[in-house]
Amino acid sequence: MIEEEINRAKSLYERHGQALTNQDGLGDLFMKYRNAITKTQEVMEQMSVVEGCTACACEGRGSCCFQGVEEWYDHVLLFMNLVLGRQIPESREVPGGCLFVGSRGCKLFARHSFCVNYLCPTLKDLIKAPHMGTLLSVSGDELFHGWELEKSIRKWFQTSQRSPRPTESPLETRGNY
Ligand code: SF4
Ligand code: SF4
Repeated sequence: MIEEEINRAKSLYERHGQALTNQDGLGDLFMKYRNAITKTQEVMEQMSVVEGCTACACEGRGSCCFQGVEEWYDHVLLFMNLVLGRQIPESREVPGGCLFVGSRGCKLFARHSFCVNYLCPTLKDLIKAPHMGTLLSVSGDELFHGWELEKSIRKWFQTSQRSPRPTESPLETRGNY
């Protein structure tokens, strides 16, 4: 349940947020990830993607920010949002919408790959070919840096908490830490 994931993220942040970001290498990975997200957002804003998606999500025109997507988020991705300075919404602003969507769009900074990658047919028609290449390139960068960071965070948790759990792919271990 998303409530449990949010509570776990908050607890991890309180206990380990400071120590983790001071670790060699992790602060650098956070910076790279932050920069990559900022770049994607800039490109999306230039292409009016943010504006179009926000209107779509809030006006209930079959948005992909639908109720239930929040359940795809685990505590590590939510923890990354907290470290990056975002609060995690705990009450739904848009009826029938994702827990994290509001009148100004998505309230999260670190987002699930579906949220970064998905472009509905309407948006695909709107974005012209050369711009589409740019968008795919920056969003790919964001996902890559997010994956690197997430992998390192999970490893750090396993090491610092002396966990016997084996290191696996972040996608396979979602929910373990
Ligand atoms: S990608 Fe398409 S369906 Fe999803 S929020 Fe944006 S405009 Fe709406
Ligand atoms: S997390 Fe953000 S982008 Fe993803 S579905 Fe929810 S509101 Fe939309």
